[in-house]
Amino acid sequence: MIPSSKGQFPSLPIGLRTRFAPSPTGYLHLGHVASAIYVWGIARLHGAEILLRMEDHDQGRCRRHYEASILENLRWLGFSADIGVTDADKPSPYRQSNHSERYEEALDQLHASTYRCQCSRKDILERTGTQLHELWYDGYCRSIDRGPNIRAKFPREIQRFHDHRLGAQTQTPADQCGDLLLKDRDGFWTYNFAVTVDDIKEGINLIIRGEDILSATGRQLQLRQILGGPSIAGVHFMHHPLLRSPENAEQKLSKRDRSTSIGEWKAQGYAPEDLIGKAAFQLGLLDRETKVSAHELEGLFS
Ligand code: GLU
Repeated sequence: MIPSSKGQFPSLPIGLRTRFAPSPTGYLHLGHVASAIYVWGIARLHGAEILLRMEDHDQGRCRRHYEASILENLRWLGFSADIGVTDADKPSPYRQSNHSERYEEALDQLHASTYRCQCSRKDILERTGTQLHELWYDGYCRSIDRGPNIRAKFPREIQRFHDHRLGAQTQTPADQCGDLLLKDRDGFWTYNFAVTVDDIKEGINLIIRGEDILSATGRQLQLRQILGGPSIAGVHFMHHPLLRSPENAEQKLSKRDRSTSIGEWKAQGYAPEDLIGKAAFQLGLLDRETKVSAHELEGLFS
């Protein structure tokens, strides 16, 4: 029984498709559980389909044993997807490293808008000065068109979208990140490129993810346009809050809680309901910490 539900959420059309998209660069932790609470809660409430995608685009950091552990933890927690990766030992159309042809094709399609770039992070910082928030690319290689990186030209365009929690959003990627990196010097696809191509290809029309990557959405929309992807008219966005320390709502979660893996919580005797309840409480979705199971989540949002 859920004592109080605070995750008010506007009504959505039925029959949408959303995704849960962990990157297997480490073990599952409470931050992932927080995302899963929003994805499963909102999807189940609105009859949306859930796709489980493995975002292992960065082959320098992703490991198959992390993926296996993430899949096992999700099953243990009760987060079962309708479609997607199920077995770390088998190829899957929903694992990014298993469909690089899809990205090659998209890159071909983008050809007129891309160029090669030789600049390292250090080069960019030296030229553009220290960046307060993030690295902004100045277009230096646009006319040189040489080097191991591939970028997309990002003309100055304003991207607008509606976020179901945060309201109207306006972003200008050309001012925030400049020409977007699509493939890095190690030959790895970048997050923004892979996720945009996959969201289009996999028919995702409900995107639920953490507010820490809110600024990625404008970039993905601009990329979607130059890829000639379908309009975002029917695509819904929701950037959810991150876990906070319950003692002090302003404070991010303690390092201990953030870094403890689900496997470690489990070894300490916590049950799936304890961990989902803990994360829901720290998200402010519950008035007090209580047990919640994965199939009760829609109650937090209704
Ligand atoms: N792979 C991303 C992560 O692990 C998910 C981002 C997204 O949902 O677009 O945080």
